[in-house]
Amino acid sequence: MPHSVPVDTERLRCEHPIADVVGSYGIELRRVGPALVGRCPFHEDRGRPNLHVYSRSSRWICYRCESAATSSASSSKWTI
Ligand SMILES: [Zn+2]
Repeated sequence: MPHSVPVDTERLRCEHPIADVVGSYGIELRRVGPALVGRCPFHEDRGRPNLHVYSRSSRWICYRCESAATSSASSSKWTI
């Protein structure tokens, strides 16, 4: 049985503002353990997605190109 869990976007909007910021850029996120994972917009993210969003600590990081920010910095960083 697959472990994929459908993303409840309305719930994310209420509980996870940083996920909302990331999602507003059209990046599809799915939950993997404690993180929400999606494709990084700052490098050519093919294959396995590298962008990890940690809503509890309000930060995100790309483990490939090492882009990172907290939610307070994210709005400027995401204007690409
Ligand atoms: Zn990246």
